[in-house]
Amino acid sequence: MRDFSWVRPGDAGLYVAPADCWIDPGAPVERALVTHGHGDHARGGHARVFATPETLAIMALRYGEAGESVPVRYGATVELAGGVTATFAPAGHVLGSAQILLQHAGERIVVTGDYKRRPDPTCAPFAPVACDVLVTEATFGLPVFVHPPIEEEIARLLHARALHPDRCILVGAYALGKAQRVIAELRRAGHDETIWLHGALERMCRLYEEHDVPLGPLGLVMETMKEALRGSIVLCPPGALNDRWARRLPDPVTAMASGWMRVRQRARQRNVELPLVISDHVDWNELTRTIAEVDPAETWITHGREDGLLRWCELHQRPARALAVVGLYDEDD
Ligand SMILES: [Zn+2]
Ligand SMILES: [Zn+2]
Repeated sequence: MRDFSWVRPGDAGLYVAPADCWIDPGAPVERALVTHGHGDHARGGHARVFATPETLAIMALRYGEAGESVPVRYGATVELAGGVTATFAPAGHVLGSAQILLQHAGERIVVTGDYKRRPDPTCAPFAPVACDVLVTEATFGLPVFVHPPIEEEIARLLHARALHPDRCILVGAYALGKAQRVIAELRRAGHDETIWLHGALERMCRLYEEHDVPLGPLGLVMETMKEALRGSIVLCPPGALNDRWARRLPDPVTAMASGWMRVRQRARQRNVELPLVISDHVDWNELTRTIAEVDPAETWITHGREDGLLRWCELHQRPARALAVVGLYDEDD
């Protein structure tokens, strides 16, 4: 009977014992494998970090250069200690996001990190990887979470803009991934005017552009006049939606792009008039479809709504367990 215990939860996150290495550790460690740049996965202060070149660039932007960085491209494999190899595959979540396939003694364990299945012009698409154990996130692991097509949400945003030519539409979006995806989808929908940014989004947008993700004309709210913002779309981090900064805007219609906008109470908490259900995670249907498609011998569930997905696995005779990985607050959605 295989127990796959060479990968297990520990103090800092998921531990790969033979390699003495951690996946997405929440505290500084000697060796870290990092799936992507969100704050609940990527931390500063590790001695050695294995990640995609894009994730390393994001970490350098956020935490400064530190320790030793080992870039691992999609499809590439690195040898770790103890006869463990790690192969990185795209996760479709944000720029540089990776699933990590760990192999040891003939066993294959895939850690998805965060992932989604829908096309996203800002990052490489998720590629299913065959494995014995699939360690999947379950952020939206309840049947109530079904994300609408992003085209519908972008159309609602553009419609609100057309309805209010004297106001501006202020969209709260996380700085890494969500902001750039909203911009790229607006461009895809034909919106080619200047999109205005809160200063906190600027550097990450530039980083995306340096990695060949064109975002079209962008301007900084700080560097323009209030009048120029009428009838325009402005992006800011969610935390700035209701703060003093927003007062410089012409009568903003407050919007927010997040998978959590499906939950009315969350929209109300942030005084969001125009909730846009735009998520960078799989919804319930995509999550269960992915498990069926990868068809692992075991499914380990982390990072979210474990109960609903455990129940689904049980109903479908799929061995599964919830992993109590030390959780950091989720930065993204
Ligand atoms: Zn994430
Ligand atoms: Zn996450």
